[in-house]
Amino acid sequence: MSVDFLIKRAKEIQVVIDSNAPEIEKLDQEIGDGDHIFNMQRGIKLVIELEPIIKDLSMSKALNQIAMKVLSGIGGSSGALFGTLFMTMAKSSNIDKGVSYKKAIDMFTNGVEAVKERGKADVGEKTMMDVLIPVANCLKQGIKNDKNLKELMIETIETAEKGMLSTKNLLATKGRASFLGERSKGHIDPGARSSQLMIKTVCESILNC
Ligand code: ADP
Ligand code: MG
Repeated sequence: MSVDFLIKRAKEIQVVIDSNAPEIEKLDQEIGDGDHIFNMQRGIKLVIELEPIIKDLSMSKALNQIAMKVLSGIGGSSGALFGTLFMTMAKSSNIDKGVSYKKAIDMFTNGVEAVKERGKADVGEKTMMDVLIPVANCLKQGIKNDKNLKELMIETIETAEKGMLSTKNLLATKGRASFLGERSKGHIDPGARSSQLMIKTVCESILNC
């Protein structure tokens, strides 16, 4: 994984999030305050705009810049949570002399663990963690079993989709949706949907390279 990889994926994610924007907006209007799509689009744009500043930086410095931008530039829960993800990834050891795919998975899964601690939400609470935690577990298991990378990416896409769909019938116990109580049931969580789309985009790029 290189800084160029990060920039390319951010651009692909922008296309996918933009093309699913009406759906994501509607989901947060149903169980939140409707700003999730705005937060995501703003965050992705800010990261892409960092390209001239980060393209020649080391991985740790580039990830640190991304984390700071996401933390300061995105409102809502997503800013703090995704900022934590990138900040944790930036702090990983030995990432400035090349990052293998195993190391990249290690960085990501440690980042998800930090997001879990930051937001204090676990699987089953109807948040993006219903996608991120199963995906991190799937990736960890794949590495442990020395699974072929392409097979692992297919499995990860499926795991993310399953996690996203599982949020539909859950009762929200974290975040704004929890204020709705039983009425939060019957709607997919917006953060779970955007996270699933981003994970799918990155995995598909790896599959196609
Ligand atoms: P806000 O809820 O502050 O308006 P966003 O609309 O950008 O922020 O993000 C909402 C998403 O954040 C939710 O759909 C959910 O997935 C996620 N979320 C909210 N609270 C938490 C939490 N404590 N832990 C993990 N994810 C959370
Ligand atoms: Mg919101």
